[in-house]
Amino acid sequence: MEDRINVTRSLLPPLEEYIEEIRPMWESHWLTNMGEKHLELEKKLSEYLKVPYISLMSNGHMALELALQALALPAGGQVITTPFTFASTTHAIVRNNLEPVFCDIDPVGYTMDASKLERLVTNKTVAVLPVHVYGNLCNIEEIGRIARKHGLKVIYDAAHAFGETYHGVGVGNFGDASMFSFHATKVFNTIEGGAVCYRDEEFGLKLYRLKNFGIRSEEVVDGIGANAKMNEFQAAMGICNLCHVKGEMEQRRQASEYYRRRLEGVKGVQLNRKQEGVKPNYAYFPILIKEKEFGANRDDVCRELREQGIYARKYFYPLTSSFECYRGRFDANETPIALEVSRQVLTLPLYGGLKEEDQRRICDAVLGMCKHR
Ligand SMILES: *Cc1c(COP(=O)(O)O)cnc(C)c1O
Repeated sequence: MEDRINVTRSLLPPLEEYIEEIRPMWESHWLTNMGEKHLELEKKLSEYLKVPYISLMSNGHMALELALQALALPAGGQVITTPFTFASTTHAIVRNNLEPVFCDIDPVGYTMDASKLERLVTNKTVAVLPVHVYGNLCNIEEIGRIARKHGLKVIYDAAHAFGETYHGVGVGNFGDASMFSFHATKVFNTIEGGAVCYRDEEFGLKLYRLKNFGIRSEEVVDGIGANAKMNEFQAAMGICNLCHVKGEMEQRRQASEYYRRRLEGVKGVQLNRKQEGVKPNYAYFPILIKEKEFGANRDDVCRELREQGIYARKYFYPLTSSFECYRGRFDANETPIALEVSRQVLTLPLYGGLKEEDQRRICDAVLGMCKHR
């Protein structure tokens, strides 16, 4: 078989750069607990993301879970979200003793369909948790308007939207808080890691204590906090990778443009649409396979690609509302568009350093499955 192509490949800095970055720790022996690297990365990221405040976390999921917790929403409250996302989004709601209510997605941007949001608001609704899927931004204005009207908190899952701006404003500025993931598979990584961006200092204080056991001072612990601190090795990786993320995105842009040239206009293939006013980060390259027009379904294409050593992913499939752990609790048919998209979507391999010959191989493999050309 030809060389295996994975769906992504983690960004790594040159080894020497990382070694230089961690070398001081062999002097200080300070490995975690908001050390120098942690503070330095926080400062650099707040500038890069153009946000007033950021709190670094051990991973994106804990960032989301603790951000929700810091909002201190009443137990049993309903949080309107979407099921076309990673497990983390829905789990974060449920693990906070809140109840997810699923809004359908729009069939073009794959994010929350804001025109279907308001009818889901009840007297138990406390917050909205939309997801910027594939870096496609949600309808920020409309979601904000509805949330203000009903006094709801808004917290964005911006795990896919690192570095993006909307009309020049960093995406982390919208809503009450936004969560970013710096997992190894994301555009920018700190191995594992994540962050919460926010504007309210009071909220920030709560968040800080939640990520550090609720410790207020040496002898006073007055919160039942968790441990979600980003350690110094993670932060050092972030500092190094931040210097290379621009190049990473540029290479991803080039590969994306190549895919676009080859797959645009192919019957039965829907490409991700560019959004007005958004500076994209080229995090993913999702395609939808429409079986009737294409002549094969998504699963057929995925299987064939795999046989050719190309590991594209059904991302996101299944919907979180269909997970085993939620059996009997939700009905995926209530979000028919999300259900349909989840059955048609395939994300193609995309990363800096994806060779041109591999890009060609991937497109040839997809086009080879199309029966109506
Ligand atoms: C990656 C991801 C998360 C979770 O982030 P981790 O850093 O892996 O914990 C949450 N939501 C979405 C949409 C993601 O893609």
